[in-house]
Amino acid sequence: MRILIAGGGIGGLTTALALHAAGLDVEVVEATAQLRPLGVGINVLPHAVGVLSGLGLADEMAQLAIPTREVAFYNRHGQRIWQDGRGLDAGYPFPQYSVHRGEMHLMLYRIACARLGADRVITGQRLERFDQDDGAVRATFSARDGTRSTRTADVLLAADGIHSAARRQCYPDEGLPRWSRLILYRGVTRSAQFLSGRTMVQMGSKAQKFVCYPISRAAYDAGASLTNWIACVQASADEALKPEDWNRKADVETFVHRYADWKFPDLDIVALIRGAEEVFEFPMVDRDPLPRWTFGRMTLVGDAAHPMYPIGSNGATQAIMDARAVADAFLQHGADWRAALARYEDQRRNATTALTLANRREGLDRILDLVDERAPDGFTDLEAVLPARELEAIVSEYKTLAGHHVTIGAPKAS
Ligand SMILES: Cc1cc2nc3c(=O)[nH]c(=O)nc-3n(C[C@H](O)[C@H](O)[C@H](O)COP(=O)(O)OP(=O)(O)OC[C@H]3O[C@@H](n4cnc5c(N)ncnc54)[C@H](O)[C@@H]3O)c2cc1C
Repeated sequence: MRILIAGGGIGGLTTALALHAAGLDVEVVEATAQLRPLGVGINVLPHAVGVLSGLGLADEMAQLAIPTREVAFYNRHGQRIWQDGRGLDAGYPFPQYSVHRGEMHLMLYRIACARLGADRVITGQRLERFDQDDGAVRATFSARDGTRSTRTADVLLAADGIHSAARRQCYPDEGLPRWSRLILYRGVTRSAQFLSGRTMVQMGSKAQKFVCYPISRAAYDAGASLTNWIACVQASADEALKPEDWNRKADVETFVHRYADWKFPDLDIVALIRGAEEVFEFPMVDRDPLPRWTFGRMTLVGDAAHPMYPIGSNGATQAIMDARAVADAFLQHGADWRAALARYEDQRRNATTALTLANRREGLDRILDLVDERAPDGFTDLEAVLPARELEAIVSEYKTLAGHHVTIGAPKAS
């Protein structure tokens, strides 16, 4: 069984490591010629950390990342609405990690090269299309200089992100991602520690939000915080969707004034925003869930399959859960790739569809919206604004959808 993975992001590389651990012959082909530590902060939920730990990456993650202690929700006036323990601190069997996406990505790349062999993790080759017949799937790649090459395998896993070429080939009329008309301005600032030093803060409401959390273990150990922040604001009425590019630079002056009157007990939000060396913008986009991921010998993985709003720490987490499900499916069905791909899709498509739709309804951040709608100027009695029972129902529904209850390790060849 030869498995070809197109796309060496967090999803593609974790899938490669999981399949390799399951004893399968796997090759990854990534479009970028030279991987660099791109992106800012992401969160990985405990069930996905369990998968990474099962792949022997617990120490690597612990060295890079902050084991998040809690997530705390505030209104724009700095009043605490709710807090939720996370990871080991909340009794989960694995930590929740806040980490620099680029550093985690490069760690996975280094480990994949070491385990699979550097010649099995190929860069600078972009998937253009795939063709298949009864015997194999043939994937056509192009290099930057226009040279074309073909690779043949039994199965193609397309982990090529939100602009997946394989997805476009199967759904040629899908068009652009769906835009919420929100823009995410993102940056990383070296700051003092705040709250527990390991707290993720979510403030405001759908109309305007601020999220921040520390992402560096080294900074934490030095008594400081490398703080990832996201300022989520509404686009102006005449603004058009810019092509999504995780590396698009933004001018801080276009949005920082919107936070001038925001208060937070332990942080100067405007100073935090201004303290970033670079600020990036990204439109909050997703795509409609698909009726089908698998087309013969090809299936979609990670953002290629289910790009969703970055709410509830699910981007990387769900891609890692896909990796585990793919490896499990091949362990169970061996060379019967049809059955393996069907099982994978069966396990993951409905689950991620529900989560994509829940994230459109704001996920756990609905708590913020309800408080803002009912008490825009702040509250004196939270119970009168958002009764504990209503809050608990929202939390329980979303956590079930996002798989917080799942406790697993990585697949092992029997
Ligand atoms: C450069 C970059 C920066 C990011 N920064 C952030 C961030 O700051 N915060 C956040 O929440 N999320 C960020 N993300 C998204 C986040 O990493 C994903 O949502 C999540 O990790 C799921 O990963 P994925 O591997 O499915 O998709 P992706 O992370 O998008 O990875 C897809 C990979 O496929 C490669 N690729 C694309 N097209 C092709 C092709 N045709 N052939 C071969 N390879 C292809 C891409 O170069 C990329 O390496 C970023 C993604 C990228 C690519």
